Amino acid sequence: MTCIDLAALIDGANIAIQNDKDRLTALDQAIGDGDHGLNMARGFLAIAEDRDAISEKPLGAALQSAGMTLVMKIGGASGPLYGSLLMAMGKAAPGDVVDRAALAAMLGAGIDAVRHRGKSDRGAKTMLDVLIPVHDALASRSDVASVRLVADEALEATRAMVATKGRASYLGERSAGHLDPGAASSCLLVHAVCDVIEGTSS
Ligand code: ADP
Ligand code: MG
Repeated sequence: MTCIDLAALIDGANIAIQNDKDRLTALDQAIGDGDHGLNMARGFLAIAEDRDAISEKPLGAALQSAGMTLVMKIGGASGPLYGSLLMAMGKAAPGDVVDRAALAAMLGAGIDAVRHRGKSDRGAKTMLDVLIPVHDALASRSDVASVRLVADEALEATRAMVATKGRASYLGERSAGHLDPGAASSCLLVHAVCDVIEGTSS
């Protein structure tokens, strides 16, 4: 059972995104329009600026509030998609104390929201190609170290994929050979969540 340290999670996620902003942007320059790092940095900075107010809320309300911020601050496709993910995860939060199964259920609800909003699914070379394997690992009782490994391997697996959703799909076969930027940001965020869980789980 873990009571997620929201302030630590917000800071950790924001720092991870700011540190890797240029890498995310470079990935998006290869197969998109080169704004993914900037988009994510803008969205997570806004969440971090609101950290004290957000982290006072119950987990569910905090995730919904952070999701709304992403929708409002990020212009690109990733804003509404990550916003939907966090808002649906917040709605599915059972309370402030979550165990692995509850986290899996929350992520499952978030993934369904992204699927619905993005009209996409696994295999389209998107953030879902990291989020879905991570969900499956959590649901099958994997430990935190295995979840990290699954996220890394799932990100690497997007390299060979041909994009069928989002801007990268305009490139068709030429989208193969590059990591998906949204899958890379999802992988970063999964690691940030793992860091917090490892720091506070009992
Ligand atoms: P934009 O594509 O509008 O420039 P970003 O560059 O911020 O937005 O985000 C691009 C990322 O969003 C992609 O790498 C992909 O992971 C994700 N994405 C784009 N379209 C979809 C979709 N329909 N479903 C799921 N994820 C998507
Ligand atoms: Mg882009």
